[in-house]
Amino acid sequence: MKPIEEYVTSIPDFPEEGIIFRDVTSVLQDADGLHLAVDLMQEKLEGIDFDVVVGPESRGFIFGVPIAYNLRKPFIPVRKKGKLPRETVSIEYELEYGTASIEMHRDSIKPGEKVVIIDDLMATGGTTEAIVKLVEGLGGEVVKIVFLMELAGLKGRDRLGDYDLDSVIIYP
Ligand code: AMP
Repeated sequence: MKPIEEYVTSIPDFPEEGIIFRDVTSVLQDADGLHLAVDLMQEKLEGIDFDVVVGPESRGFIFGVPIAYNLRKPFIPVRKKGKLPRETVSIEYELEYGTASIEMHRDSIKPGEKVVIIDDLMATGGTTEAIVKLVEGLGGEVVKIVFLMELAGLKGRDRLGDYDLDSVIIYP
């Protein structure tokens, strides 16, 4: 099996000039790549006591569900506004251009529950920061955040410095 880094394809100037897009689909479309990615992310949870896995659409679902399944924990989806059918809590946050709104079901986390957040990639950390606020607003405690990839140059860790955060691959 190759090292996990070698399953990621880096595409220069996508979706716009100057951005190196770290494409996770080349990891997923390889049986070994998928297996390795899930295993290495799951390893970051060893010794962590938690109750639920939370993951944002859509790539947070891809890794959050197998990890939750393997560890026999529930999976809580975070979705874009307007997709969840029952009572929700929502938050708006800044994107590079404009704003986005994400939601969770109000009954998805009980006060005091220990939460792990899983996503494919941290860029600015803005999405994760918004998820943390939703979880904490419901009374949950974020005990760990795990990414497959982290773009360290965008300094997402500075926003999330108080949390236990781990990434499998760190790009400068
Ligand atoms: P963030 O700025 O941390 O809120 O990142 C939001 C989302 O943008 C991440 O979850 C990624 O899916 C996506 N993203 C941002 N930059 C990149 C990149 N260079 N390559 C691949 N995905 C990216």
